[in-house]
Amino acid sequence: MRVLLTGGAGYIGSHTALALLESGNEVVALDDLSNSSRESLHRVEELTGKTVDFVEADLTDAAATRQSLEGVEFDAVIHFAGLKAVGESVAQPTRYYRTNIDSTLTLLDLMRERGVTRLVFSSSATVYGDPLTDRIAETHQVGVGLTNPYGWSKAMIEQIIADAAHAWPELAAVNLRYFNPVGAHPSGRIGEDPDGIPNNLMPFVAQVAVGRRERLSVFGDDYPTPDGTGVRDYIHVMDLAEGHVVALEHAKPGVRSVNLGSGEGSSVLEVVRAFERASGREVPFSIEPRRAGDVASVIADPSLALSEWGWRTTRSLDDACRDAWAWQQSNPQGYANA
Ligand code: NAD
Ligand code: UDP
Repeated sequence: MRVLLTGGAGYIGSHTALALLESGNEVVALDDLSNSSRESLHRVEELTGKTVDFVEADLTDAAATRQSLEGVEFDAVIHFAGLKAVGESVAQPTRYYRTNIDSTLTLLDLMRERGVTRLVFSSSATVYGDPLTDRIAETHQVGVGLTNPYGWSKAMIEQIIADAAHAWPELAAVNLRYFNPVGAHPSGRIGEDPDGIPNNLMPFVAQVAVGRRERLSVFGDDYPTPDGTGVRDYIHVMDLAEGHVVALEHAKPGVRSVNLGSGEGSSVLEVVRAFERASGREVPFSIEPRRAGDVASVIADPSLALSEWGWRTTRSLDDACRDAWAWQQSNPQGYANA
């Protein structure tokens, strides 16, 4: 397949580009580079020895996107492009809704015009809100009591895709509900390169380990979890990337929503210890109040992906820490000095 990756220069997009190329597919990456660097895709080319076609375009600008894609062929789409910082979405709701929803509307119109029917969408476990069960299956309620515009935009886009599929029965869409993507390619050549202070746990821990930040703030140690800190289901970004390849291969008319997670929960303190083991460095931390909007525990029931597609995670949290550390050590400023 020749696959259009919107947001293809970003963290998950670049790792998925690599997995697609390694499995014999071709890649066209479209990105406005608002939260990424062109360098990530140069490194994907270097790692695979294959070419990535790149189109610079802002997907919220329908006319410009259409023009940029003129003459560019593709027969499937993975839609990563969008804004993803939960806290920022609370402060800038209209920007988040406009970017995430407009981008998707442009893309769906474009796919229909071109007769491209295969779509994989980057959704998130945030659509489940505060979980009602220990392990979350796809049958769990979605879009109830969500605490931020980012999460709502993902739930709304899932609805938009469902409505589009209703009107266009050939559309073969998969919403991949990611749990917590972490880690990097084992080469350490590509990885997560957050702008400014990282919002997410693992890149923050990595920057403390490398000496770029003094200490980690652990947000709350009074949750009803074994050690009191928040529990999440961390999934290695290469497992996640391979999940996209499998999802594309299995997409069939209609819409499926599928969890991509490991089924294992790890607490904040377990992540800190795993990173200390991987890096051989101490990660100083202090216990701080809970972060607004956080929940105690979010763990996937990943059995649908296994039974439907034969996909499961094969990499551990220790593997993710080792690879995130390799990336962090060899690129302490991310792609900035590349
Ligand atoms: P990222 O920011 O690294 O990648 C997103 C890419 O989209 C960036 O390269 C950015 O420049 C591009 N982009 C943003 N707005 C655009 C626009 N208007 N036009 C064209 N390109 C645009 O983020 P990521 O971590 O790789 O996430 C990819 C997708 O996965 C996002 O949709 C995100 O919401 C979703 N997701 C991420 C996580 C996570 O923890 N990383 C978890 C669940 C879901
Ligand atoms: N967390 C933390 N300190 C940080 C960042 C995150 O203690 O600097 C905790 C957060 O409260 C949650 C877990 O780490 O329990 C994962 O947070 P992250 O933001 O990475 O992902 P989320 O699950 O919120 O999307």
